Amino acid sequence: MYSESPPLRVFVFPFMAPGHMIPMVDMARLLGSHGVRSTVVTTPVNETHLSKTIENARSAGVDVDVKTIPFPAAEAGLPDGCESIDMLPSPDLFLQFYRATNLLRGPLEQLLEEEKPDCLIADTFLPWTADSAEKLDVPRILFNGTSFFAMCAMESIRVCKPHKSVSSDSEPFVIPNLPDEIWMTRTQFLAELWDNEEEGLGKMVADMIDSALKSFGTVVNSFKELEPAYVDLYRSVMNRRAWHVGPVSLCYRNVQEKGTRGKVAAIGDSECLKWLDSKRPDSVVYLCFGSGVNFPDAQLRDIASGLEDSGQNFIWVIRRGSGGDSTDYLPEGFEERVRGRGLLIRGWAPQVLILDHPSVGGFVTHCGWNSVLEGVSAGLPMVTWPLSAEQFFNEKLITGVLKTGVGVGTTKWSRNGEDHMRSDQVEKAVRLLMEGEDAEERRRRARQLGRTAKLAVEKDGSSYEDLENLLADLKSRRH
Ligand code: UDP
Repeated sequence: MYSESPPLRVFVFPFMAPGHMIPMVDMARLLGSHGVRSTVVTTPVNETHLSKTIENARSAGVDVDVKTIPFPAAEAGLPDGCESIDMLPSPDLFLQFYRATNLLRGPLEQLLEEEKPDCLIADTFLPWTADSAEKLDVPRILFNGTSFFAMCAMESIRVCKPHKSVSSDSEPFVIPNLPDEIWMTRTQFLAELWDNEEEGLGKMVADMIDSALKSFGTVVNSFKELEPAYVDLYRSVMNRRAWHVGPVSLCYRNVQEKGTRGKVAAIGDSECLKWLDSKRPDSVVYLCFGSGVNFPDAQLRDIASGLEDSGQNFIWVIRRGSGGDSTDYLPEGFEERVRGRGLLIRGWAPQVLILDHPSVGGFVTHCGWNSVLEGVSAGLPMVTWPLSAEQFFNEKLITGVLKTGVGVGTTKWSRNGEDHMRSDQVEKAVRLLMEGEDAEERRRRARQLGRTAKLAVEKDGSSYEDLENLLADLKSRRH
């Protein structure tokens, strides 16, 4: 007699930072909506932030749960309870935190042994999981939280080393072997990532590459129509197995679900929506620089003045490492002068909820890949303001390939915006984003991409199908 095989059981294990946890929890939900029993593996403090999202998924009939493993922060020399990158007292502790994740190895292996899932989807920043999974004969799939474009461009630089042939940090070079002519300078990335495989961040990247090669494949939060030439390049020329399953943020459909994604927002959904509802379509610029950027006060002041001088409506998400309630980082009288046309959110914003509102007409972004893809999904043109990580690569995709954005003008990699943008540069970029014929043309292209993104995750869409391909590959491996 024919008996249906039990549903696939997949573990999803994110690196502990908001920009990693958020899309991987989305991924877990997406898997659940494709009939998989999916489990997010994380540490106790991170679990507390997930409860609402998991509850929402379950109410929508999606099979997702969470399993926790202890994170001995104190043993790693970190403050007690410091279980996420955004809880670090200083960004200088990044490598220490990254290394501390090795302490999760024993508990993870025990969990894999007990539960025997069909697959472990683990973050690229947890390279040791490849060995754990291999030891227990569980296929390990890598979740790489960036674009095919960035993966191809970074691999080209790592292998061909074009940055070694220029005579200064600011002399541009073309990234070899890409389908488009993409120019870069040494100031726009951390060359130590690829130039010193023996220690520090270079060793981290070398371990990630090694771990990727040992994996069953890579799941990418992107969609084919966004970057078709780079999907092909990654798969056929670089010979890597990969599935594009995004944009994963599109798994949230209603206001309540969008409003509770990530952390607890510093503004209520209804207050935020009421403000947006009072504005004309496409008339609001939304500015947010991800989960970790803390601009110096001088930069915050220049953003404020630039926004004021632009004359546009705006929502500006401000994050400050210290300073309490003081507003002396804003020009005097700023909040009174922009009252009614400017909304400041101090802390966490319900980003997807805001981006999806019809009144929002442009996005000023630091080019973190999640934000970029959320902006693309919402059909928005962007001002690109890259700072660190692989953000300058993402900028090139937006401005150079998709042509849906304008750069604010940063050219130097820096964690917290040390490449200062003056208020007139901010004003100019915001005006270019919102006013004139070129702005309309960019908006038209962005809208089209947004429609394509939504179709990609619908039944028979390219990402929907590729997720089904991944599940079929896992099922056939089971037999
Ligand atoms: N995010 C949010 N509200 C905020 C800041 C960030 O919802 O106030 C979310 C954003 O939607 C995205 C993630 O946090 O999903 C940030 O990831 P991204 O890759 O854009 O940047 P990172 O924080 O990793 O630099």
